[in-house]
Amino acid sequence: MRTAIFLERDGVLNLPKVEGQYQIAPRSFNDLELNRGALRPLQQLKAAGFLLIATTNQPGISRGYVTRREIDLMHASIQKTFPLDDILMCLHDEADRCPCRKPKPGLFREAAFKWQINLDHSFVISDKWQDAKAAQNAGCTSILLRSPWNGGGHHDFVVDTLEKAVGKVLQLHPQNSFSCSAA
Ligand SMILES: [Zn+2]
Repeated sequence: MRTAIFLERDGVLNLPKVEGQYQIAPRSFNDLELNRGALRPLQQLKAAGFLLIATTNQPGISRGYVTRREIDLMHASIQKTFPLDDILMCLHDEADRCPCRKPKPGLFREAAFKWQINLDHSFVISDKWQDAKAAQNAGCTSILLRSPWNGGGHHDFVVDTLEKAVGKVLQLHPQNSFSCSAA
């Protein structure tokens, strides 16, 4: 069994766009602004042996304001920039009542099945409450990056930067996947 770090895409790997009090996802590849500052912290996690998996709710596909082609271009660029093992996405709208739209834990469970992940030992890093809630539903530890979208619900830790989130992960789970799989 492996240990994963789940990273919310919008707000962690790419810079958030804000409309009113809401964070909105980029609608095209040209709209995508990568958060280059995330590279070093992610490399540190990768070097420690964690699987790195991005997750994202993209209801824009169901709502018709972003195309699958633009999403594929964005994800190719994100995977080229960061040392990710996978990107898992929910394409549904709220009304679809799917099991994968965060705060539901479906994406994490899908990843656990695909990659043989021990969710109890895994972490979710995000700037939004939906991921902390999904983490709780899946049995993962949640680390929120302080933001206007943290909400008031359950979370395990709040930190100011991605570097501090990585420090927290390494403090709580110093061993890498090799020692885990040998156990
Ligand atoms: Zn879904």
